[in-house]
Amino acid sequence: MTAADGYDYRRVQMVEALERLGITDLRVLEAMRRVPRDLFVPEAYRQVAYSEDVSINIGEGQTISQPRVVASMTQAARIGADDKVLEIGTGSGYQAAVLAQLARFVFSVERIPSLARTAKATLDHLGIENVTVKVMDGTLGWRAFAPFDAILVTAAAPEVPQPLVEQLAEGGRLVVPVGARDTQVIRVVERRGARTVVSELQGACFVPLIGRHGWAGEGR
Ligand code: SAM
Repeated sequence: MTAADGYDYRRVQMVEALERLGITDLRVLEAMRRVPRDLFVPEAYRQVAYSEDVSINIGEGQTISQPRVVASMTQAARIGADDKVLEIGTGSGYQAAVLAQLARFVFSVERIPSLARTAKATLDHLGIENVTVKVMDGTLGWRAFAPFDAILVTAAAPEVPQPLVEQLAEGGRLVVPVGARDTQVIRVVERRGARTVVSELQGACFVPLIGRHGWAGEGR
């Protein structure tokens, strides 16, 4: 996937920076070394595609998260090679592409059709075949393919969406930023039988998760 694109060296530098920031999972680091993030951002922003701490506007008022946030959420999800993973908030498709390197199947949902279309085109262009993208309200999860070994929510929820907890497999991990519209804490919710164990990962600043179990959007 890493053709001689002129960005290979920057990608290696980004991964070294992630290691310095405390990312230790070698599979996550290797996945981020492989995926060409520059192809997931608008052309005008390619020069900053590998800055570990920069989120980038991808249109429709949405962003692609900072590589350090992608790395730490992915690490927290502890994804195994046979896992089935759900992502809420496809955006550019970059996080889905990283997950695709780590899991067997990735299901990714996005509420804005134009973003879903562009993300799908980028994933197809890169020959990534184990990601299925759909336009829908991800706060409801994706019951047809549940249960999931891991669920990553890449937009900020006012509280943990209950349908997502219900769609976790036994031992499954849900990683979700929860809090106010402008600042949140990323929570990791792990399903253990009828119980859940919740821990906090780090502070974050995501765009809002809009939907039935999220924030109200325009017209709601
Ligand atoms: N993971 C993305 C990437 O790698 O580029 C970045 C996601 S961006 C920070 C958040 C995305 O969540 C936006 O594209 C937004 O439209 C989407 N979103 C917000 N509410 C949603 C919902 N209820 N269901 C699905 N997607 C939603």
